Amino acid sequence: MESEPSSQMSEDGYSEYSRPKSKRKETSKVWHELVEGQNEKGETIATCIHCKLALVVGTNRDTSHLKRHLIESCLLRPVGLPLGEGGNSSREEEEFVFNMNDLRKEILLYIIARAHPFSTVEEKAFRRMMSKATPLFKTFSRATITRDLFSMYCCDREKVKSMLLNAPGRICFTTDNWRSSHT
Ligand SMILES: [Zn+2]
Repeated sequence: MESEPSSQMSEDGYSEYSRPKSKRKETSKVWHELVEGQNEKGETIATCIHCKLALVVGTNRDTSHLKRHLIESCLLRPVGLPLGEGGNSSREEEEFVFNMNDLRKEILLYIIARAHPFSTVEEKAFRRMMSKATPLFKTFSRATITRDLFSMYCCDREKVKSMLLNAPGRICFTTDNWRSSHT
């Protein structure tokens, strides 16, 4: 028998979602070209994105030696490039603002496009994938996506109505025996 979780359960039953820990904002431009990590000794390291050299970051977070590596010693970084501009994060990435409502709409369009079941959004693997894509992902149930679909339908129906009302001349409809899987 298929278990039918209540909407309460499906909203809250999966709590893998967590807000990202408030991370100190790195202001130094060196971090556009270094990736923070940890070495086997547990020390914080900064790996150069150009030559992959790992530099130990002191507990005081001083960045002068990191800067020196990028500007003076890195063998693979283009010479003369202003600091912070060797990273591959584009302006779009930097200005990107996450919007869960936009993402939910895109997920709905994805589900409609391939006629996936609404329960996809409750699948553990789907939620895991989305929370890997962004830790800001907020889980939602099939009830939510159904509601979204209905409001999208109502909104589009109004658009079609107004298009038809404003259409000049006669309108001719042609229909066929199409199903969503034929398109
Ligand atoms: Zn380097």
